Amino acid sequence: MKILKFGGTSMGDANTWQRVLNIIDRYQAPFIVVSATARTTRELLSAANKAIESLSEAQTKAKSIQQRHQKIISKFTDDYPKKGDQCQNICGQWIDEQIRELKQALINIQEAKELTPKTKDAILSIGEQLSSYLFVQCGSLFGIPMQWVDAADIIRTDSDFGQANPDTDYLKQKAPELQELVHSNRIPVMGGFYGHDANNTTTTLGFEGSDYTASLIGATLNAEVIEIWTDVSGIYTCDPRVIDDAKPISHLSFQEATELAYFGAKVLHPSTTKPASQKQIPISVKNIFAPNEPGTCISHEIQETEGVKAMTFKKDCVVITVTSSNTVMGYEFLANVFDILRWHHLPVDAVTTTEASVSIAIENGNRIDDAIEQLQSYGSVELDSSQGIISLVGCATKKAQLLVNDILLYLKDTPVNMISFSQPKGNLNIVVPKEYVIPSIKEIHQQLF
Ligand code: ADP
Ligand code: ASP
Ligand code: MG
Repeated sequence: MKILKFGGTSMGDANTWQRVLNIIDRYQAPFIVVSATARTTRELLSAANKAIESLSEAQTKAKSIQQRHQKIISKFTDDYPKKGDQCQNICGQWIDEQIRELKQALINIQEAKELTPKTKDAILSIGEQLSSYLFVQCGSLFGIPMQWVDAADIIRTDSDFGQANPDTDYLKQKAPELQELVHSNRIPVMGGFYGHDANNTTTTLGFEGSDYTASLIGATLNAEVIEIWTDVSGIYTCDPRVIDDAKPISHLSFQEATELAYFGAKVLHPSTTKPASQKQIPISVKNIFAPNEPGTCISHEIQETEGVKAMTFKKDCVVITVTSSNTVMGYEFLANVFDILRWHHLPVDAVTTTEASVSIAIENGNRIDDAIEQLQSYGSVELDSSQGIISLVGCATKKAQLLVNDILLYLKDTPVNMISFSQPKGNLNIVVPKEYVIPSIKEIHQQLF
């Protein structure tokens, strides 16, 4: 059996819902995971953030989410004069219920003058609760009997709100229940991205988390393949929205896809490959607007190339440089610095060291203030928030030296701040001022691909 995951753009409007249903119709007993409709998660976040300052602005955003969903349903049901009204009623009630909950949560934020990570997760999960339930009603109207599965009953996580970690043992216990759903005469449809912790409180797996949900379900059900359906024909040599002549890559290893996702390629959540690779289940990335194109297959197989497989970037990073006060040995200094980063859950993107100092690049947006304060006890700390990272993945190991030389030559007019290169992994990370990121990747892409 196959897992099919449809992202935000696939869930964007009544036309894409029809398109997605036509795709689902080609499969025998799949399990479906869906994201929130396009823009909804962002709008929910923005409503939650606004609620303290201006409840009325936050409520306006809630209203716009409500109207967007009502519009999708009314447009979809228009094509079904016989049973459309009934579907519209059921969907209307569900939308009203979810929006009522959202508005109450916004009032609570305003009263408490605080948006906790726990409340934020409860609010963000509403996007997937809306899309998955409504899609089931419309799917059944289209002629594919579907069964709504509440992710709260299936995905158990820890309580690390905003980036919760799934409990795979709990999921294993759920396998028979999931198998039964797959073999029933209704196609199971579940919202991705959210789950519940042991106290039955809503958690989320981090942005783009529906990909991760799909992979977790795929591994639990020993699926034949996990198909991630999106708006581009696979993983490209670089973000096709930035590089016009980027090309789809036919095959990537799990490791290469993970590196690309971790270093900024939005097309996959960085943890997606973990459950799939443990069970050796291939992931296929495909385009709902060109369903017959092959897309990208991600598997254990490593295919050597002549040059570089793909490149990605992060436009907004901070470089923290800590210079040791020389009261401890070098190895102790480094251990202390990394202990602090671990303690604050700060993901490191690139590192360079000298005898007495270490420079660390971290994506902006991570909360670093407390970590900086602690780092100051080990030496002087300098911050530079004007940086970005360019990452090249799958560099051919045989030609690594030449490749690095060439790339530095292409960037001869760019003030490069840090370089980290791993020959065994074929990865090259280059930290440059943020205004140089896009011109630099355009230049490198043009030269290499
Ligand atoms: P979905 O809503 O289906 O989850 P996303 O917007 O999360 O879709 O991911 C698809 C988008 O990822 C593409 O439209 C593209 O702009 C972006 N993207 C970034 N890097 C890449 C890449 N290397 N290959 C393909 N798409 C990429
Ligand atoms: N809706 C969530 C997001 O926008 C999760 C997802 O789409 O994968 O990040
Ligand atoms: Mg996505």
